Parts: sequence; structure tokens; C-alpha cells
Amino acid sequence: MSAEKIGSLTLLRGGHLFDLDRPFEVGDVLIEDGAISRVGGTIEAAGARVIDATGMIVMPGLVNAHTHSNQSIEKGLCDALPLDAWMVVASYGGAGAALGPRDLYISTMVGALEMLATGTTAVLDCPRSPQQWFDEGMDQIMSAYVDVGMRANVAAQYSDLDFFDSLPMALIGEERPRARTGTVPELLGRVEPFLERWRGRHPRLHPMLGPSSLPRCSVELFKGSLDLAARHGVGLHTHLLSAKSQVPVAGARYGGSTVEFLREIGGLRSWTSFAHAIWLDEKEIGVLAASEAGVVHNPVSNLKLGAGVAPVPAMLRAGVPVALGTDGASSNDSQNMFETLKAAALVQRPIVPQDQWPTALDSLRMCWDGGARALGQKIGRLAAGFRADVVLLKTGDLRLAPKQQIANQLVYAELGRSVDTVLVDGEVVVRGGQVTKVDADAIRGEAQRLIDGIWSSLPARDARFAEVSPTLERLEREVRSLALGFSRFCG
Ligand SMILES: [Zn+2]
Repeated sequence: MSAEKIGSLTLLRGGHLFDLDRPFEVGDVLIEDGAISRVGGTIEAAGARVIDATGMIVMPGLVNAHTHSNQSIEKGLCDALPLDAWMVVASYGGAGAALGPRDLYISTMVGALEMLATGTTAVLDCPRSPQQWFDEGMDQIMSAYVDVGMRANVAAQYSDLDFFDSLPMALIGEERPRARTGTVPELLGRVEPFLERWRGRHPRLHPMLGPSSLPRCSVELFKGSLDLAARHGVGLHTHLLSAKSQVPVAGARYGGSTVEFLREIGGLRSWTSFAHAIWLDEKEIGVLAASEAGVVHNPVSNLKLGAGVAPVPAMLRAGVPVALGTDGASSNDSQNMFETLKAAALVQRPIVPQDQWPTALDSLRMCWDGGARALGQKIGRLAAGFRADVVLLKTGDLRLAPKQQIANQLVYAELGRSVDTVLVDGEVVVRGGQVTKVDADAIRGEAQRLIDGIWSSLPARDARFAEVSPTLERLEREVRSLALGFSRFCG
């Protein structure tokens, strides 16, 4: 299938423009060289390619600020497993699927197809490429985003401690240090060429560092990662206090607060962002707010894994920048940001007073403003100077209404079915609901063959999980019964 070519000048004619900062009214949008140059009213632009948006809603593309593309072919992997046990099945402890470079390309593509078709134009992806073909695997992931036309910040994920070293095994009397998965110079030496190969290579793609989480990394590796990111001028994205089990680990390893420790080692920066941030106390929220770092909230994955409810209203009140993410497909399992927008607004309501409930507009603001910040990109607005990442939605299922009611419909009633046309950097990448730059059917066919192989290996994987499952169940009971002096709505 050939790519739908456009000139450097594109005019979106006569759509209903929806943006947090402007009135909801009919107007044109002019795009020049991938950026929005004029918005509103009737615009004449000689030689421009015109896309008729009459009767459609035109909005900025959604931003998914946390996922793992290597999981995209494992949608539906498991159910009713708590986070630490899920981690073993999905990723670690030798039980996770080992994907080759082409597999990683296909898996990334499968996630990107779902995101683009449901109006997500930019992603912060933190995939794991196996160390034996790390370079090739990372290059295949980047190539998938190049080919499909999506904007992506890709944080190569790595760690040097065994997963069980990130758990408070002392609680059940099973503490024993395990072998490291590599030395710090080896690990950083492996990831640095990825930054060198991809920094500045493609305007839509930005390499980042993704040390898995502080408990999964030696302090030496985490500090080395911060230094490496600063030296190359790239972002660093990691997981923060996603599981209650990480609170006692922090007590033993960092002398108390993970967030305070991050501040001490220079980890809270404008270019660092932290996925989940569930098990923070009020003081840690204050430390984050006083820094320039941002958080990425993943409400659906947090609920599915019973991990807890992140204190998002408290973070927003304190001034912490919060973005939204789906998390990977083996824990969500969808990559649909409309679902995440809705969950982010609703999940707090049984817990916090009504005057702290996030609204539909709050959800959209987190997605667009928090997402733009987490990715370090000028996206999330229909305004001059912003990159032209734009979604055109059919009306029909969506009904034209005042601005507030449009926001409510987008967050509470839409799941992406209305997405008609998607532009990224001014290029049309979805038209009539279909991707334009790749053959989606061929990719889905190849994905199915790959997925068949994964499911055929599932019994062996389950058997390896069964070996550690009793230990994880005992630990889960101990951790759930821990009194922390603060609560995050986790049983
Ligand atoms: Zn994650």
C-alpha cells in the first residue's frame, strides 16, 4: 500500500475545532511543514491540499505517555493476578516471551495500529529488547514507528537486579541476593549506542533511557543512567512506586522515601518522568511538586492488577504535572486512550471528596499537557507553532453540543469509533478509519502467526510461574496487611 503523500501545505477546512484553550466553533486549520501555522476563521492558502472537515470535530491527537510495545501481541495474557505475580508471568523471572527483532517490529506495529485507529498520535514507549540482539531489536521498534507514521519517544528498558531483589522477601524470611544481569558499564555501554544512532535521526522519534525502576536497578546503574541521559540531552522514563511491596524495599534500601532518594541523586528533573506513582505519601507528593519532574498515571492497568489508586487529585493540587498512559497490553489490555481518559476521571470518585473529582476536561488536560511534557514535544493543542498531530472525528455517535458537553462525550462516551482521519506531523496516517502507510492486514496476519507461537508456549510458561507462585502469594498477603500510615485504596 502506498503512503498518502501530501504537500507541505495542508488546509483542514470547516471542522468544529475542539481544544482546551479555544471556544468550540467552526474554523480552518492551516498546516505548514508539519506544524500548525494558523487556526480559526476562514483561511485561504493557495496551493494547499484541502481536507474537508465539514461536520467533523477536529482535536489534537491523544498522547499515550506510558506503554510497553513488546507486550502488544500478548493482549489477554492473564487475569486476576496482582502486580508482582503478573510481573513474573509477563516479563521477568524467565517466564516472559522472548521476542526476536522482527517479532518486536510486529508487536510495536500492532500497538501502533490500535493507537492510531483510536486517535492516539504520540506515545512514550518503554520496550525491552533482549540483550542478545538489543541493537537490532531497538532499531526494529523505531522502524515500526517510522513506517506507520506515529510520533514516539522510545525509552529502552533495562535493569541489573533480579526481579526478586525488588521484592521485600525479608517479610517472608526468604531473602537471598541473586545474580546481577550485567555490570553497569556493560548495560550502559549497550544502551548508549542506541541514543547515538537515533538522536536527531528522525523528526518524530526520540530515544530515551528507561531504567526499569529504582528497586530493579542498582543505585550505581540508576545514577549512571541519569548521567548518560544528561550527557546526551535525552529524557529518562521509569516506574515509580507502582506496587505497595516497593515501600518496605525503599525503607530498607534508601533509608525511607524513594522520592526523597531520587531528589538526593538528582533524579527529579524536567526531563525525567515516572509511571504509576501510586504508593507515595503526602510529603513525597510535596517533594515531586517542588521539582520539575512529571508523573504518568495508568488507571486501567493499576485497577486490573489491583495495584492501588494513584493520588492524582493530591498531585494535581500540589502542582505535579500528570500525564496519562495505557501501560502495556499484557496488563491493560487495550491501547485505547479514550478508555484511559474515562478511567482517569472516574477512578477517584469513590475515594476523594466531590470537590476533588477530576472532570472530563481535567482528564483531557492530563492527556494533552502532561503528555506533551512527558515527551518533551510541542503537541496537544490546535495552535500556531504546535506540531500538526490532529484527529478528525465523525459526528454521529458523537453529537455536536456546547464545549463542555463535547468534552463529556469524548471522555465518557467515545471509544475511538468516530476517528476518521489522523495526521501526525502534518502527514495523513489514517484516512476513513484505515491506516495509510502500511498494510495492516499483512501485519495482523504475521502477528497472528507469532501469537500462535506464544500461546503454544504458554503451558511451559505457566509451569515456570507455578514454581514461584506460592512464594508470591505468601508475600502478597504480607504486603497487603502492612500498615503504612497512608492508604491508596488497595485491599
Ligand atoms: Zn509499565
